[in-house]
Amino acid sequence: EIMPGSGGHEEKIFVSVRLRPLNSKEILRNDVSDWECINDNTIIFKNANLSASERSMYPTAYTFDRVFRSDCSTRQVYEQAAKDVALSVVSGMNSSVFAYGQTSSGKTYTMTRITEYAIADIYDYMQKHTEREFVLKFSAMEIYNESVRDLLSPDCIPLRLLDDPERGTTVEKLTEEILRDWNHVIELLSVCETQRQIGETSLNDTSSRSHQIIRLTIESSSREVFVKDNSSFLSATNFVDLAGSERASQSLSEGTRLKEGCHINRSLLTLGTVIRKLGKGRNGHIPYRDSKLTRILQTSLAGNARTAIICTLSPACIHVEQSRNTLLFASCAK
Ligand code: ADP
Ligand code: MG
Repeated sequence: EIMPGSGGHEEKIFVSVRLRPLNSKEILRNDVSDWECINDNTIIFKNANLSASERSMYPTAYTFDRVFRSDCSTRQVYEQAAKDVALSVVSGMNSSVFAYGQTSSGKTYTMTRITEYAIADIYDYMQKHTEREFVLKFSAMEIYNESVRDLLSPDCIPLRLLDDPERGTTVEKLTEEILRDWNHVIELLSVCETQRQIGETSLNDTSSRSHQIIRLTIESSSREVFVKDNSSFLSATNFVDLAGSERASQSLSEGTRLKEGCHINRSLLTLGTVIRKLGKGRNGHIPYRDSKLTRILQTSLAGNARTAIICTLSPACIHVEQSRNTLLFASCAK
């Protein structure tokens, strides 16, 4: 018997913020960082040019489960803000790790490595727990303009979503590869990367508008028949590199109607609403069905699924509005 990801207690969303360093272009422009992480939980806005009235308009200190200074490594971010959530998949819980932030704030940089670290740790766990049998499957998709595409398939045919009474929403005809070994992982990650780039050259500026989901599913059962824990489970963990958050900046004023414009992204807007509602407790109506992204991730967000959001921040002062929006989103998720 296969149980959907279950067990454990209701968890809050783990919300962290990662500040990226100034890049060479910004340094050449004499940009300075507006933001400073003053301890492991607090990031402050420290722009000296701000007038007193501007200061009173916005909070200057923000507190999260964890904040990462610009000199922190992705390994540190992974260990402290993503690992527990991602690894809960090996004990039968569904989970998702998101990177949220404006374009060029470091989402892909962060998520790419975190995905690799997590898969390596999942492998490690499976190898150490020989008393159980594990089958690990890999799939990857991109959502662009509410259209879902298989990142392991060379053709760009939009995939349909199906409602499965047992597994929730599934993606029809999505390639699922049974992972053989670590080389296979590297090979599949590179196929995704290539497929994503192909999409990017044919459509303008897709990376800022599309969401990438890498999903690992685990089927596990006990090898021994006469043991206490002979349960079987099927669970999934998702690594989600979101569209640039500037695509949802209008969503922040509560009650704004969903406008279908070229710069508004339905999936990102809906995710924002879903995350805000989950932050307030997992009850009441949560509009998972309003977008492709939230439909696909519903079983990995709802119930006792575990969620981590890493919000990436560009340090320079020209980005201050977007950075504030990102922190506002992060605050709402807590
Ligand atoms: P996004 O995916 O949010 O658009 P990227 O991850 O592509 O942003 O990052 C933009 C650029 O900044 C890339 O060249 C990337 O290598 C660099 N970068 C991002 N975060 C960091 C970091 N923490 N340290 C060093 N370079 C970074
Ligand atoms: Mg990116």
